Amino acid sequence: MSSSTGGCLCGAIRYTLNADPVMVAACHCKDCQKQTGTAYSVVMGVPADAVSFDSGTPKTYQTTGTSGMPVDRKFCGDCGSPILTDVKVIEGLLFIKGGTLDDTSSVEVGAEIWCDSKAQWATLPESLPKMPGNPPAG
Ligand SMILES: [Zn+2]
Ligand SMILES: [Zn+2]
Repeated sequence: MSSSTGGCLCGAIRYTLNADPVMVAACHCKDCQKQTGTAYSVVMGVPADAVSFDSGTPKTYQTTGTSGMPVDRKFCGDCGSPILTDVKVIEGLLFIKGGTLDDTSSVEVGAEIWCDSKAQWATLPESLPKMPGNPPAG
């Protein structure tokens, strides 16, 4: 098990992650594009109890997922950095934005999801598994 730290652009939000991600995906969904202002977000699924906030409290913007369940997008209220997403239909996992880690050298994208709304200027390795929407459950 590894421990890593991360935070937002201004430093008001700081977190510690005490587990390796169970999955890392490039998410091409329209909401991630809007929230990050770019082609996709790299999301790391981690056990919810492995994330602790050392400083600051992120704000929440709630949307409704395709499941009909809430999706809580947590971000820094001062600088706007997206930090993590709590997809309520997926219990026990939080999805950290990979770019908020202080050291991103260990982040390896394992799949591309929501390819149905992929930007044509987003290029990732051809070998990655590609899914039109959410990854299959289980
Ligand atoms: Zn901030
Ligand atoms: Zn997304």
